[in-house]
Amino acid sequence: MFPNRKPLSCASRTLLFPLSLGLLLSAWLAIGQQPKRVDDATLKNAGKSGEDWITYGSNAQETRYSPLNEINASNVSRLGLAWSYDVGAGGGGQEATPLVWNGTLFSITNWSVVFALDVRTGKERWRWDPEVNRTAVQPKICCGVVNRGLALYQNLVIAPVIDGRLEALDAATGKVVWEARVAYPQEDYTITMAPRIAKGKVIIGVSGGEYPVRGFFAAFDAATGHQAWKFYTVPGDPTKPFENSAMRKASPTWAPDAWKMGGGAPVWDGLSYDPDADLIYIGTGNAGPWPEKLRHSNGKDNLYAASILAVQPETGELRWHYQTVPGDSWDFDTVQQMTLADLNINGRTRKVLMQANKDGFYYVLDRLTGQFISAEPFAEVTWAKGIDPKTGRPMVNPDAMYDKDTVRISPGPGGAHNWSPMSYNPNTGLVYIPTSTSSNFSYAIDQDFTYKPGGQNMGIVFGFGRGGRGGAGAAPATPPPPAKTLPSIGPKAQEGDRGGALIAWDPVTQKERWRRPGGGSIGGGTVTTAGNLVIQVIPDGRLVAYSADKGEKLLEIQTGLRGGMGPPITYLVDGKQYISLMGGTGPVPRFNPGGAGGNDAGRGGRGNAPVPGNNAPAVGNAPAGAAPAPPPGTGAEANAAPPGFGAGQQVLPKLLTFVLDGKAPLPTPTAPATPPAANDAAR
Ligand code: CA
Repeated sequence: MFPNRKPLSCASRTLLFPLSLGLLLSAWLAIGQQPKRVDDATLKNAGKSGEDWITYGSNAQETRYSPLNEINASNVSRLGLAWSYDVGAGGGGQEATPLVWNGTLFSITNWSVVFALDVRTGKERWRWDPEVNRTAVQPKICCGVVNRGLALYQNLVIAPVIDGRLEALDAATGKVVWEARVAYPQEDYTITMAPRIAKGKVIIGVSGGEYPVRGFFAAFDAATGHQAWKFYTVPGDPTKPFENSAMRKASPTWAPDAWKMGGGAPVWDGLSYDPDADLIYIGTGNAGPWPEKLRHSNGKDNLYAASILAVQPETGELRWHYQTVPGDSWDFDTVQQMTLADLNINGRTRKVLMQANKDGFYYVLDRLTGQFISAEPFAEVTWAKGIDPKTGRPMVNPDAMYDKDTVRISPGPGGAHNWSPMSYNPNTGLVYIPTSTSSNFSYAIDQDFTYKPGGQNMGIVFGFGRGGRGGAGAAPATPPPPAKTLPSIGPKAQEGDRGGALIAWDPVTQKERWRRPGGGSIGGGTVTTAGNLVIQVIPDGRLVAYSADKGEKLLEIQTGLRGGMGPPITYLVDGKQYISLMGGTGPVPRFNPGGAGGNDAGRGGRGNAPVPGNNAPAVGNAPAGAAPAPPPGTGAEANAAPPGFGAGQQVLPKLLTFVLDGKAPLPTPTAPATPPAANDAAR
């Protein structure tokens, strides 16, 4: 084979053998130390061991259930802080679900800054700033400078940037491997949701529903960043060719000129991929403007706004759709988490998709066909009298239309459930929903509405003395009359939980099993475990634990972060179970898109935010008539000292990691020294 080389002597062979064996061994060791890669099989089995947390909802089913039980109902009271990490200067809530893989914790904070930490110590491995042009992008962000998470694939961290970019970073170094453009903020799009992976593609949708956008989601090749396909959720100009048969079908459900205002139906939160069914499920937001009358759409369904869609990962071809609220007029984005489970219903195992919708109904669908199975209210509902069990269509209360009158509707735009993750425990068969138990809002159409290109176009007024934020920003010419109220269905708020509750819901019988005060609104969320636990982060900064079966309270810690809270995750390192979460806002600049006031009721569900002069109570925050407290993590609390803190004190956002018998001190407030990041005119 090597004619020019002399054969090695016996002596040389004897000497070299151990050397080459050593080289070989070190090569093997090096291979062993190579970071494990996340591939399709890893994602399909994600969450099964509970060791890592590699995808947004912990597993393909997006249940946020962990099989770990080292921390359990008998010892969770010993939970204490292991370490903390300052995630940055803030500027908004911490809505991200961190990911854990290969001993590294990855997460994303305000302005889409991504970081990687040694999960054993919290020591920073790398940090990457996409350098968003904050001044330019801020007015296009409806509901807070937030990102909800990342995706992992092969050796890459896939990071969405709020300004519409998608970045693949080397997981080991944080260096950019590729960059793709999903959408442009100049066209009123932003990105806040976490991407997911399906068959080597990154799936991502766009935010911007209260702006004149045409909603869509798209797939990008995870290896190259090239766009594979794009699916618009609403039809465009009907004089031009339809992009696909789904658009042809949707077109007659709109007024011919509705596309000129974008249409809406953005994709800003829920997404799951069932590798067995080989279907991607996504939820779409509301149509714009809010009242169907202003879309010239009376009696029309407006496909595919406020819908759940199932598409093929290779092509983006629509397989089925289910519209929760045809012709929605109440900002009932249908983007909430979609949890997949196999449930025994009427003696049959059904492969279901479940969603606790903003609109107050808990939906159970057949995820293979889209067939409606059941829907019952998990909170007080007045907009509908129920969902027709045969057709799956809502029986809309005719008095819920507000073409002429001001009508107080439950739930309001913040929704009975928003983005805060719920969790499903297969052992108890229960879903744990962070619920706004008394969400409601006084809807009044803006009779003077004029379409505003590039601005927010909600088309409603926020009460007498307040400019029509969806319109030109002027006060309505005629004060709206007092709001009508309507009869309700569903469980009403109970004493002590008007500020929100954790509801344990049986999705088979569609009945509440137990509820505990705290939760709902915007922020926080839950994880449930084989240790018979539900661990909940409450928007006011508390970390609590309940027994999953009975709801016995086992732990309550005020983390000291006091707002802007994200959901908890759990994982195992060196045989020890940890719980991590992010929270804190830092200074939140007030922003004023279009000069018409912050959009408090948009895709981030800021309908819970009090609006000065609005006679509607802050949904789920305070009884009617009382001065409501601003919800955490919104512009409404800009630079205010959190409850229990002295004036001018605040806590900068942190990532906290808890473990049994952890002894590290919890965060304490400090005086603010840094100016609000978004006001930094230097960028
Ligand atoms: Ca919305």
